[in-house]
Amino acid sequence: MSSPDTLHLVCPHCHTTNRVALQHLSSAPDCGKCHQPLFTGQPVALDAASFDRHLSRSDLPLLVDFWAPWCGPCRMMAPAFEAAAAQLEPQLRLAKVNTEDEQALAARYQIRSIPTLALFWQGREIARQPGAMGQADIVRWTRAALARPR
Ligand SMILES: [Zn+2]
Repeated sequence: MSSPDTLHLVCPHCHTTNRVALQHLSSAPDCGKCHQPLFTGQPVALDAASFDRHLSRSDLPLLVDFWAPWCGPCRMMAPAFEAAAAQLEPQLRLAKVNTEDEQALAARYQIRSIPTLALFWQGREIARQPGAMGQADIVRWTRAALARPR
């Protein structure tokens, strides 16, 4: 864990762990390694290796859209998920896992239908919701899940 006034953030470009002061979180911090923005307002596409880095090394909750290219509802939800990323960053990291390419990840989390949204925090899954949602519902569901006592 970081001290209360800093956060560990994993870069969406090079997946290096950065330490960012809480007060700088909202002022568009750059990655210390690749110098690209740590927040892009876009979901980051993760494979098994980068998923584990974001899961285990970031202090931010990780909201993952498990999807596949052949899935119509997944493609319909994609713009809503992107809009939700712009709204929820920098309090959360939003990510997409293509279950066609990352079958081991989908199996590890027993993804039975797509799209499925899963919310991870401090290395474990805290909520899951199968089925396509609009932007407002994604944001509302995520905030409600994070507000629940654990
Ligand atoms: Zn980077």
